[in-house]
Amino acid sequence: MHTSKLFDVIIVGAGPAGLSSAIYTGRAKLNTLVLEKSMPGGQILMTDWVENYPGFPEGVAPFSLMEDFRKQAEKFGAEIETAEVNRVDKQDSQWQIVCGERKYLTHALIIATGSNHRKLEVPGEKELTGRGVSYCATCDGAFFRDKIVGVAGGGSFAFTEAIFLTKFAREVKLIHRRAQFRGEKILQDRATRNDKISFVLDTIIEKINGGEKLKSLTIKDVKTNKVSELSLDGIFVSIGMDPNTGFLNSLLDLNEKGEIVVTKGMAASKPGIYAAGDVTDACSKQVATAVGSGVEAAIAADEYIQNM
Ligand SMILES: Cc1cc2nc3c(=O)[nH]c(=O)nc-3n(C[C@H](O)[C@H](O)[C@H](O)COP(=O)(O)OP(=O)(O)OC[C@H]3O[C@@H](n4cnc5c(N)ncnc54)[C@H](O)[C@@H]3O)c2cc1C
Repeated sequence: MHTSKLFDVIIVGAGPAGLSSAIYTGRAKLNTLVLEKSMPGGQILMTDWVENYPGFPEGVAPFSLMEDFRKQAEKFGAEIETAEVNRVDKQDSQWQIVCGERKYLTHALIIATGSNHRKLEVPGEKELTGRGVSYCATCDGAFFRDKIVGVAGGGSFAFTEAIFLTKFAREVKLIHRRAQFRGEKILQDRATRNDKISFVLDTIIEKINGGEKLKSLTIKDVKTNKVSELSLDGIFVSIGMDPNTGFLNSLLDLNEKGEIVVTKGMAASKPGIYAAGDVTDACSKQVATAVGSGVEAAIAADEYIQNM
């Protein structure tokens, strides 16, 4: 019979939350495995500079910051493996973590799977992704040198993306369904002062048009209901994130946004399972809060194991 390897703690996701948990569980001498489906570092790698992570008055490059998180976790003995977790099952008093053919057992589980870009869900979006539709200015901005691009959204990420795109694009149009913004005031001020950025407000995107490449958007003014065509070379969709909880198959309590509901110590609704970072209902979607919650979850998981 095939026996799965047993760990003290398995952490799903190697973003700021998961790697912070791994530093603490590793240092607590718990046998720790981190499962990450892509590159360690998480979604902060999608931006080029972080200004608000404490301890770096001049800001810090996310790649070097997250590389140091990873090194610190490995220094304390955490193993990091590339694998996508597809399922979690109860197995006696332990949890079985399923990654395709691979299976692992663990006493405690920390879910730190973050979130993924929300889609506009309009005709043409899927077909033109990679051909004018993008979800990451840092990844794709350089393809739009001297072009006209749009950014869909009105939160901090949309402003960050718009400001970043002015490095390359001739013109950046921020398209938002309301006239008020949710984003941080400092970013709004920077965007408003930037001559390359203009605003298309009270407007929704109904369709993305093009063949080989994106050519225009069909937009609707929500106040007048007037539908028109806006010519663009690219659209960056920054309308929010959805938590990565699909693989849990209703195992844990989620809120109406699909975030894992946690209580003290980042405990989820099943014994031995903790959650940290953007995937939870308790974090304000920042690196610093993801780090703090990852540490909380690790300390609680350690206590759980000591009391077993
Ligand atoms: C463009 C952009 C700019 C940002 N700028 C800032 C900023 O300036 N300051 C700031 O504080 N925050 C910023 N943020 C937010 C910050 O990146 C997040 O709050 C933070 O990364 C959340 O960390 P996390 O560990 O919870 O999740 P994530 O960083 O999302 O990491 C989750 C990890 O889990 C992995 N994963 C998901 N599902 C599975 C699975 N089934 N199996 C295995 N692995 C899985 C993912 O691949 C990912 O690596 C920005 C985000 C974006 C997108």
